[in-house]
Amino acid sequence: MKRLAILATIAVAGMTAASLQAQGGLPGIEPIEKVSDNVYKIFGAGGNTVAFVRSDGVTLIDTKLPGNGQAILDEVRKVTDKPVTMIINTHSHPDHVGSNSEIESLAGHVEVIAQANSAKRMAKLPNVRAPDKDFTGRMTIGKGKDEIALYWFGAGHTDGDALVVFPAERTMATGDIMAWFMAPLIDPASGGSMVALPDTLAKAQDTIKGVDKVIEGHGQVRSWDEFRSYITFHRALVDTAKATLAKGGTPEDGLAVLESNPAFKPFLGDQLLKGLEYGGTPKSRALIDLNVAFQELKGEPVTTQWGPRPPAPAPAGGDAHQH
Ligand SMILES: [Zn+2]
Repeated sequence: MKRLAILATIAVAGMTAASLQAQGGLPGIEPIEKVSDNVYKIFGAGGNTVAFVRSDGVTLIDTKLPGNGQAILDEVRKVTDKPVTMIINTHSHPDHVGSNSEIESLAGHVEVIAQANSAKRMAKLPNVRAPDKDFTGRMTIGKGKDEIALYWFGAGHTDGDALVVFPAERTMATGDIMAWFMAPLIDPASGGSMVALPDTLAKAQDTIKGVDKVIEGHGQVRSWDEFRSYITFHRALVDTAKATLAKGGTPEDGLAVLESNPAFKPFLGDQLLKGLEYGGTPKSRALIDLNVAFQELKGEPVTTQWGPRPPAPAPAGGDAHQH
């Protein structure tokens, strides 16, 4: 099966992440940054970790690659003495759930929460502290300034992408349905879909109110307007894939159509981004997602390769993916 090629690449990237990090191929953990009154972000060593300081403890959103638990707790300790009592995972990829277990062993019991589809996957991953609680469409935790609102709207990066909103902070963490403000990795083995992604994000845009700051799964803090432009671009990418395919064109033809619209320039740059994991440029990743959309629309297995291909070893199988 051709599809295994990409999945193998992703799985190998996960397995060799620690050595890539040691070689400078992945950015290391960076000092904790303040995002809003009680929300902080820790970049590097996998996906962004978000720390939300509540009245009675700290909730972490995502825990990076394995082996970063102590470093995450050290960063959190710079801003609060409160204990870490809860972890919310935005999805099941190892660069977002990797240090769940280590954090619990260091911090004492923590409650772990994820969307139901991701929770099922996490339960099958070796050495991953699986969720105690899951939710399907919506879950609210806490009240007032401590409130966390969890949302799920359908497939995108995976089929279990949680959006995590801190209403009193007017802040949201997206997980990898938005990362690096560029066309995202789609993981079909975890139910991800490029064709579904714009609909999923449009539901989020229509439902979630009162958010000013949007923390990407990897990368930076964006504005709500940037989030909306990200959705507009991916809607156009999928619409362009459909129209181009109908005319017998190629993904490259689709890319040319997108490039003819000046509004999409931020998503089609040729520059290498500092700190970007796994290679590529905004433009090359947009072309990859056009290919993914073409394959989905034709009903073919998604085979497109992502990023630099680390040398073998052969992956152990299963659906442990990276990004
Ligand atoms: Zn991911």
